[in-house]
Amino acid sequence: MAVKNKKHRMPEQDQKKRIRNFEEVALGYDERTAIEEAKRCLQCANKPCVGGCPVSIDIPAFVKLIKERDFDSAIRKIREKSNLPAVCGRVCPYERQCEGVCTLGKTGEPLGIGHLERFVSDYERGRGFEIPKISKPTGKQIAVIGSGPAGLTCAGDLAKMGHKVTIFEALHESGGVLTYGIPDFRLPNEILRSEINYIKSLGVRIEFDMVVGKTITFEELKKDFEAVFIGTGAGLPRWLRVPGENLNNIYSSNEFLTRVNLMKAYKFPEYDTPIKVGKKVVTIGAGNVSIDCARTALRLGAKESVIAYRRTEKEAPARIEEIKHANEEGVKFRFLTQPVSFIGNKDGEVKKMECIKMRLGEPDKTGRRRPVPIKNSNFFLSVDTVIIAIGEMPNPLLAKATKGLKTSEQGTIVVDENQMTSIPGVFAGGDITTGAATVILAMGAGKKAAEAIDRYVRK
Ligand code: FAD
Ligand code: SF4
Repeated sequence: MAVKNKKHRMPEQDQKKRIRNFEEVALGYDERTAIEEAKRCLQCANKPCVGGCPVSIDIPAFVKLIKERDFDSAIRKIREKSNLPAVCGRVCPYERQCEGVCTLGKTGEPLGIGHLERFVSDYERGRGFEIPKISKPTGKQIAVIGSGPAGLTCAGDLAKMGHKVTIFEALHESGGVLTYGIPDFRLPNEILRSEINYIKSLGVRIEFDMVVGKTITFEELKKDFEAVFIGTGAGLPRWLRVPGENLNNIYSSNEFLTRVNLMKAYKFPEYDTPIKVGKKVVTIGAGNVSIDCARTALRLGAKESVIAYRRTEKEAPARIEEIKHANEEGVKFRFLTQPVSFIGNKDGEVKKMECIKMRLGEPDKTGRRRPVPIKNSNFFLSVDTVIIAIGEMPNPLLAKATKGLKTSEQGTIVVDENQMTSIPGVFAGGDITTGAATVILAMGAGKKAAEAIDRYVRK
């Protein structure tokens, strides 16, 4: 393949060293590499990449500006559409979005759009943030519930439109899954903090330790604010519901990652939340969450970290780059494997996992081939720690505590084409309306809701 047909590689931390620390694995392009990569862009007139981006960033325009070494204008172009470019440049599944439809991909490798977005956002952080033009104050007060990517995006956009925005966050830190879910080695906390500081600098206020539906009722909120946006995410763990799942040392991915990322268990006893990780760790599932758990377990000292998944690598929902990194770090994959029970010792600690082998059947409604159990194929794996990472569901607390809020059978909040819920003036977006999805989709929904809220309160 000619050099022009290949994406410039992203430098990374050495494989052996990185499994001993929580520092970022991908190190970012330098200026020369970014410019060389930008030169590969064909500046297609029909811009398929823009259509592939859920927030419609003008990709060819910012790439051209990088090529011209005008990084200030490049980041301004991105910020017209995105409040979290340093996050997206690190965790977006670009291979399935903008890069997935890039014209260059037809004959070689697509343009490194994600790597370029990251480069220019890192440049911005080094240089210092520029506050954009904020519209004249409207005097309208808007409440946002939850400070994940959906809430932050909605809040940032509304603040730029001149509204007064207050975010109510249940935890003592903002960022949602970006803070308590995605580990530092993929998205360093200091980078996320600077993105959040940018949003605060637009005038957004954040109130912490406010569980709406408990600490403060929804009705109380509605009295003080002209519109409300709900971005409470999907933080309720899904369980396998098999015998032995309540044994000690079996964690939900949510608890495992929150202890490590938010409570800094990897710095115990400097931080006071411990985490127990045995020699042999098995994580169930093959999404981004499972890969994060398996790679975290290695960094916490596991001798063996295995991912058990009931389908094959082809159906795995995780980003390709994450699977590649996990393989390089020594995570082992056991495909077509489904746990059916867990067996413990006399102290109630998990020691064995009984599994059944699977085969692939007909495609299901997601288009992926359905896993079918193979009769009498049961076998045992020895384990010291198990992490269940088979998906998350919306937290039902807020919907239950709010009269008249329509939800689906899956517990997601039902919204119309403007992200408005069944209650006038109450909007919602992100994982709480779609079920567990992606950062950029949550941001896209937050953006759409901000535009609809602006129209609603000005009416
Ligand atoms: P969340 O990020 O879940 O934020 C919701 C916020 O609402 C939280 O801060 C929560 O504390 C708060 N909240 C909840 N209830 C209340 C209440 N009653 N009152 C006040 N506040 C409340 N996506 C990608 O695109 N790429 C990835 O690589 C990727 N990796 C992931 C790795 C992990 C481990 C996980 C768990 C998810 C990953 N995702 C990834 C998915 C992505 O992070 C989510 O789709 C996204 O964060 C959803 O955003 P959100 O704003 O809807 O919700
Ligand atoms: Fe450039 Fe690819 Fe977009 Fe074409 S599709 S403008 S090559 S990024």
